[in-house]
Amino acid sequence: MCIEYAHAQQKSVFDPQESFKQVNFPAGNLVRTASGKPGVQYWQNRADYKISARFDTLSRQLRATEELIYFNGSPDVLPEVWLLLGQNRFRKDSRSTATTPLEDSRFGIKEFTDGFVLEKVMVKNKKTGVWNKIDAKVMNDQLKIMLPEALQTKEKITLRIDYHFTLPKNGSDFMGVLPTTNGTIYQFSAWFPRVAVYDDIEGWNTANSGYYIEPGKLDYKITVPAECIVQGSGQLLNPEQVLTKLQQVRLREAERSNQTVQIRTAKEVTMASSRPGPGLLTWHFSTDHSGDGLFAVSRSFIWDAVKVDLPDKETALAMSLYPVESNYLAWQKSAQTMKQVLESYSRLWCPYPYKTAVNIAGSVTGIGGPGTSFIQYQSNGMANGVWSKLNHELGHNWFNMMIAGNGRQAWMVEGLNSFINHINGKVLQGETAFTLPDAINWLGKADPNQCAATPYELMLYKNFALLAYVKPAVALNLLRTEVLGARRFDAAFRTFVQAWKFKHPSPSDFFRCMEKESGENLSWFWQSWFLNDWTLDQSVESVQYVNGLPEQGVNIKLVNKGKMVMPAVVEIVESNGQVNRANLPAEIWQKGGDWTFHYPSTSAVISVRLDPDHNLPDRDLSNNTWHGTANTITQPTTK
Ligand SMILES: [Zn+2]
Repeated sequence: MCIEYAHAQQKSVFDPQESFKQVNFPAGNLVRTASGKPGVQYWQNRADYKISARFDTLSRQLRATEELIYFNGSPDVLPEVWLLLGQNRFRKDSRSTATTPLEDSRFGIKEFTDGFVLEKVMVKNKKTGVWNKIDAKVMNDQLKIMLPEALQTKEKITLRIDYHFTLPKNGSDFMGVLPTTNGTIYQFSAWFPRVAVYDDIEGWNTANSGYYIEPGKLDYKITVPAECIVQGSGQLLNPEQVLTKLQQVRLREAERSNQTVQIRTAKEVTMASSRPGPGLLTWHFSTDHSGDGLFAVSRSFIWDAVKVDLPDKETALAMSLYPVESNYLAWQKSAQTMKQVLESYSRLWCPYPYKTAVNIAGSVTGIGGPGTSFIQYQSNGMANGVWSKLNHELGHNWFNMMIAGNGRQAWMVEGLNSFINHINGKVLQGETAFTLPDAINWLGKADPNQCAATPYELMLYKNFALLAYVKPAVALNLLRTEVLGARRFDAAFRTFVQAWKFKHPSPSDFFRCMEKESGENLSWFWQSWFLNDWTLDQSVESVQYVNGLPEQGVNIKLVNKGKMVMPAVVEIVESNGQVNRANLPAEIWQKGGDWTFHYPSTSAVISVRLDPDHNLPDRDLSNNTWHGTANTITQPTTK
């Protein structure tokens, strides 16, 4: 006998031809292989920066000289070099200003400056070493430098730019100025003209709507009044010139200590003896593999430091700087949090690549740069507090400082990072910015009408959190738990990270690497979660005993109604108390939208429930469960 129920008929939109359609990957070549790894002829260009700057705290003006050594690793001859002028977004006539909505927007322009004022742009004559003026055109926030002689493949050129700009007080949540009791905190980002990435996919990436960096060396000097402390990306090369004797001793102690060492205590902040002085001091920092940098300046900093243990007995130094306003437990623990977070990422994926990690409190909500982060000074110990923000911002050292993908695909930056944040949250029992159950509920109801692969500049404000962070993090988590299993997923993900360290992977490289390393065709997964705005609706359609006898087993018919495809987990409860699960792969949907499987029941079936742990963002939960007893016909639950 048949025990079938009819529920409110949701029209199925599922078509296996569409949902399992092969992703149209570019053909593999010697630069990027079909296995998603760099090929034998993989190339990239390189930019090494040497910058000398002086910051005047009264006028907020930074005056600098930048030397850029640009190496052409490409097979192409380059007649020009493009630089990105991050400060120009604050000009009144900038495109960022013109496209800032009236209502409050976190990254909109709220204050105008003159942007980068370029005093001189010069090129070094290779033979004579003489600096010659050069033709350079500013277009919006880009600078096009026409080279006197085209840059040949495998050759380098040295450019010099003298410039100044005023640090905006309200820098679109990327930079800014915060007054505190013991002095102002100045946070700098986008503070030097940075070369655009030239790659084999787009050529010059001048549309800088997504963060994309060319890893290289950054060596910089910042001159400020002696009472100020400077910290930022890179290793401090001249502690003996800028720190007191006692601070130098403490810093060396911190390099060997698992306990936090205070380089400058709260009490010392107001003591003149805690700074060498008077006059001006120049702080010198250097780091490799960066291509960008953040730094901050203030008289107000308390300074904590602790050793970070990395694989192969390597170590780094984690430092946290904050004003007395932040001198409470979450911040007092922040250097330890950094140590814990960095050690975990290093163990899980690949070792932290820098000698130092610096976190600085200030007005910026949260931003990550190479070896540096800024987080909001009032962040506390709650959800999305200091721990969660550090877990996220330090994760950016992996995605996308180290794995330097093009941020126009925001999921490659924020999504991959949010995913590793969740793994760290689980391993370290820390709270992340959003929980996975909340994310599943959100996704189950959301109608973004855009997909995770929508380019950054087209992604609607209302969709950004969902599509750049939440959806890709949930997707990868499900790929790990429901599709591949942790062991297979982690091995593939680690291979991707290691293969693309300090290189430029494309979305296809990621998709392919995960497929080839796991041995699966995952087109359906990428189509479902990244490339389309599809929704999931799995349902239990009918439950039928073989020959009408429970002891002969039961045939359960499932239907996939949405375009999204996922494996099916079905929990069967029997009247004899048996509870079992059937795990069916996504491939059951390959040949049609319904699937019947046999379950060897030995007594009457009480319930059949799809996705019993509610791991999937199913649209219509009302058709997920069948409730019944032998020989009765029951309507499904509607909750
Ligand atoms: Zn982020």
